[in-house]
Amino acid sequence: MNLRFLITAGPTREYIDPVRYISNASSGKMGYALANAARKKGHKVTLISGPVSIRPPFGVRTVRVVSAREMFEAFKEHLPLADIIIGAAAVSDYRPHEAKKDKMKKASRPFNLKLVPNPDILSFASRRKKKKVLVGFALETQDLLKHAREKLEKKKLDVIIANYPEVIGKNKATVWMIDKDSNIVSMPEDDKNKIAKRIIDEALETWKDNNPRKKLHR
Ligand code: C5P
Repeated sequence: MNLRFLITAGPTREYIDPVRYISNASSGKMGYALANAARKKGHKVTLISGPVSIRPPFGVRTVRVVSAREMFEAFKEHLPLADIIIGAAAVSDYRPHEAKKDKMKKASRPFNLKLVPNPDILSFASRRKKKKVLVGFALETQDLLKHAREKLEKKKLDVIIANYPEVIGKNKATVWMIDKDSNIVSMPEDDKNKIAKRIIDEALETWKDNNPRKKLHR
């Protein structure tokens, strides 16, 4: 059988007023490479993407969203049918408490912006996990593997991909892949497409472990 992948990618934008927003530097390249790799293996792929400047991979159903809440809504809609879920999106952890209807005027005194937490999309999926495979990413500036392991446990993931911020926007990446049993595979710098292929293979192997009675043809 062919499987259904649900992949999130890119940044989210959290608008403060009609023209300003909070976001991050994610380019979406890793998530798009993952979507392409899964599709090339013959699987059905839904890619939920924040605003990026790269083209959607051929043959992949791409759902475009802007904010974390929009990403969450699209994700919830596609989650029930998904077999393998990969959270490659750099979801904004916070959003402004309220988005102003009109453009804010400049003033010379400081102002405080109240932020509220966004929903954690992967954690939502982990509460509905069943036999699904959940893969997440951890981007850290320090104690990378320690923090990645903590995230894997907290979000109840099968696999987590750990990397440093240097990979943002690049075509190449150096990553570490950690599974539930704390096995670590270190992947030296390589093209994101090649790394994506290895992550997809690992996700498929994990799916076989989680679903021993089902047959995967590809
Ligand atoms: O932001 P954080 O380091 O917790 O992200 C770890 C993983 O969780 C990533 O795979 C990311 O896509 C996912 N995530 C999410 N929803 C959030 C924050 C992060 O799905 N609100």
